[in-house]
Amino acid sequence: MNAFVREQILDPSLVRMREAFDRQRAAFGTDMSPSRAVRIDRLDRLLAMTQRIAPAIERAVSADFGHRPAQVTRLADVMMVQAAIKHARRRLGAWMKARRAPTALAFRPGFGRIVPQPVGVVGVVSPWNYPYQLAMGPAIAAIGAGNRVMIKPSELTPRLAELMREAVAEHFAPEELTVVTGGAELGTAFVALPFDHLLFTGSTAVGRQVAMAAAANLTPVTLELGGKSPAILGADADLERAASRLVMGKLFNAGQTCIAPDYVAVPRGAVGPFVEAMRRAVAKQYPRLAGNPDYTSIVSDRHFARLQALLADARQRGARVVPLHAEGMGGGGGSGTRMLAPALVLEPSEDMSIMQEEIFGPLLPVLAYDTLDEAISYINRHDRPLALYWFGGAGADRDKVLAGTLSGGVTLNDCMWHFGQEELPFGGIGASGMGAYHGAFGFRTFSKEKPVFHQSKLSGTALLRPPYGRTFERMSRLLKLIT
Ligand code: NAD
Repeated sequence: MNAFVREQILDPSLVRMREAFDRQRAAFGTDMSPSRAVRIDRLDRLLAMTQRIAPAIERAVSADFGHRPAQVTRLADVMMVQAAIKHARRRLGAWMKARRAPTALAFRPGFGRIVPQPVGVVGVVSPWNYPYQLAMGPAIAAIGAGNRVMIKPSELTPRLAELMREAVAEHFAPEELTVVTGGAELGTAFVALPFDHLLFTGSTAVGRQVAMAAAANLTPVTLELGGKSPAILGADADLERAASRLVMGKLFNAGQTCIAPDYVAVPRGAVGPFVEAMRRAVAKQYPRLAGNPDYTSIVSDRHFARLQALLADARQRGARVVPLHAEGMGGGGGSGTRMLAPALVLEPSEDMSIMQEEIFGPLLPVLAYDTLDEAISYINRHDRPLALYWFGGAGADRDKVLAGTLSGGVTLNDCMWHFGQEELPFGGIGASGMGAYHGAFGFRTFSKEKPVFHQSKLSGTALLRPPYGRTFERMSRLLKLIT
């Protein structure tokens, strides 16, 4: 018996997790194609549960962060989940329908159909930054597709994780939907379970480990990862409007958003006016920093120290750090509340840590560029980003950026809103992830699209049977002509 197996047997929480998995597998075996009514009932219960515990979600997340505005949680966690459930409820009938596929002449009157079926038991591993939405969003898609679901939330938001565990246990049978809580160790054991599909949201480094663990079971994975998402200001960008939207995108949740603009590329001549526009936008949206209830704490001391180290490293390597608020770098209350004052980092260079790792905080490096090609080539020399933002007109420059870069998604003239579109697929590419979900794309991710060919009584394919002779030759000539 190897150490891992022994550990699993000895640790009661891991044993319980394995039992929960086995129960879900067995239950799936008793109803492999649940009806629309069964799925709608599960979604309705999730909607009712979300509505009932919404105030508790807001309180738990704020306590886990140190402070987070109830409005941020309501918008990004509660309302997004409610919208996703309502959308899935409305569209489920159409998604579940088998689709007739066009059939080549040689095979008619037979015909083909594509029949979507649930894959079985789906595992969801979620991060701390939008802890309700990023656990429940994938679960909604998996439930809609008819699967059983197990969720492993982040240990960095323990109050919210416990709230979800209790609420789910009250509203669902454990073989329908269940939440298991624990740290990275439990996470390692969780992703080693032989799930039928695993969706992981988190960092690229852990995503790589998850993909390796899933490979041992040939479990298909959807990886929703992070990275450095650029914003580009075109030469014709409206600076005031761009600044106001960048501030919203960067300071929402204090920048702890996977699709927050990580850095911004600005035409060299516009850097000065851009800095001033950003300061005005911050003053408008956050008139004061100290004790401002609209601003969010950094989630942990470790993350706070990491962001301070990014700034120190940038300063030491020659960057100019410009506070974005009149209260300066002291604003925001210091590490007691873990409120980090927002800042721009001017003249950053590639050797700085702030240009190498995902920032995930309210710091925004400004990269001056001379030609648009230079900005595009900078982006393309680095990992494929999860998101990309273009501010400017709808002309040739915009098209050049769209055609010349590859990213998980794009919002034009704003930040982040492509995420909220249930009719658009959400997911990364390369180091920012693989696969996608949201709306119909999530339904397909968690379904086996089973091809079924209906053979007819009379079929030309009978003429292809042995013994091979003249009939076969004639048929193969005909096939060549008609295919
Ligand atoms: P993380 O990778 O540290 O943790 C994510 C989850 O994985 C947690 O539940 C954690 O307990 C678990 N985990 C940790 N080690 C594990 C292991 N070895 N095996 C299995 N599970 C393990 O990420 P985080 O700090 O919680 O979240 C921040 C990151 O997530 C950022 O990089 C951000 O960009 C990314 N993110 C991506 C999206 C997206 O939709 N693409 C959304 C939000 C956050």
